[in-house]
Amino acid sequence: MSSPGAAQSNGQEPSPDTEPSIFTRIAAREIPAIIVAETDRVLAFDDIAPQAPVHVIVTPKTQQYRNVVELAAGDPGLLAELVDVARGIAEERAGGQFRLVFNTGEAAGQTVFHVHAHLLGGRLTEGSLNAQ
Ligand code: AMP
Repeated sequence: MSSPGAAQSNGQEPSPDTEPSIFTRIAAREIPAIIVAETDRVLAFDDIAPQAPVHVIVTPKTQQYRNVVELAAGDPGLLAELVDVARGIAEERAGGQFRLVFNTGEAAGQTVFHVHAHLLGGRLTEGSLNAQ
């Protein structure tokens, strides 16, 4: 049986059934990253190109789901765990106040098709979705 990602692939975005994603390789410690939290199923690490004082990528270790829509449909418990990991990091590093962004699709700025949240915190401006 094919994965949810393969079933919904439109042929224009990488399939989760091909190569290990960059985030899978970080989880396997093949690529270095500053890992800030980890559970059996979720990994969090500092974004290599931060756009806010706190900018952490929070991602399931599985690359089965390409985006948050697939993750919510396929494993809502895993999505909840991801959000809880993000909350915990924000408690430690951003006073518990944060922005959680899931870019979904190329036109929305998604470049890595292994579902992940951008946890943004610190000096975020009201009325803007961008960090200042
Ligand atoms: P997106 O554009 O939503 O797919 O987000 C992908 C994010 O992954 C970007 O913010 C990148 O800066 C980040 N990223 C890519 N490669 C790495 C890496 N090796 N370590 C940490 N973050 C990375």
